Amino acid sequence: MTSPSEPLPDPLPTDADAVPMTTPTHPAHDQRPERVMVIVAHPDDADFGPAATVAAWVQAGSVAHLVCCTSGDAGGEDPRADPLELARTRETEQRAAAAIVGYEAVTFLHRPDGALENDLPLREQLVRLIRTFKPDAVLAMDPTVLIHDEGYIQHTDHRASAIAACDAVYPAARNPMAFPHLAINEGLDAHVVKWMYLFWTDRPTVWIDTSKTVGVKIAALREHRSQIKKPDELEARIREWAREGGAKIGTDAADGFRIIDLG
Ligand SMILES: [Zn+2]
Repeated sequence: MTSPSEPLPDPLPTDADAVPMTTPTHPAHDQRPERVMVIVAHPDDADFGPAATVAAWVQAGSVAHLVCCTSGDAGGEDPRADPLELARTRETEQRAAAAIVGYEAVTFLHRPDGALENDLPLREQLVRLIRTFKPDAVLAMDPTVLIHDEGYIQHTDHRASAIAACDAVYPAARNPMAFPHLAINEGLDAHVVKWMYLFWTDRPTVWIDTSKTVGVKIAALREHRSQIKKPDELEARIREWAREGGAKIGTDAADGFRIIDLG
């Protein structure tokens, strides 16, 4: 052992310094927004999506608000099932999952599952929520993805919620003349969202270490009992995806996002 008074020798390059296959390709993204709003189409989207990142931020002191545009009332197998009953079940599941992740609040907009549109009324609802909660960052799906690189189609509601979230953040929420009655009648002045973090993207630009919270994500997902029939198989898949992300930054798990700086 080297005594504290002895200068440490400069390390000589060795074969061990050669770049191994597992060398991280990116630095971990360590920015933490204080106020975070997640906007998704269905109950369970946020838990399949950025739950581990949100949990990590909340554990470090951030405040998070989840917005589900629909209540998932078409997310079943039985055409004779009562959609309102299913919506109730799924809202209950999502609230339980959100409590595990650590969201301060969950808002359901009660739009119809399978028929979500990026229309002006939806954007107004989102702008009202953004101007009320005042998030630094909004997390939503990547609206540019129609067919994922892996070869599956992005659900129509996912596309609609993603575009609506982007349109609500920019320019509407920050434009004082967009939905002016919100400012005049409700005191909801324009608000600048500094960043968007887009998930389920084919073009991630940052990876966030979730090695301490991937278990929280799995626990949250297990609350969606009406949707997840084989939770153990799902857990294995989630951990594998998280590992693939983690390899980018040299951690056990990570979420990838396409970040947009709007500040
Ligand atoms: Zn969904």
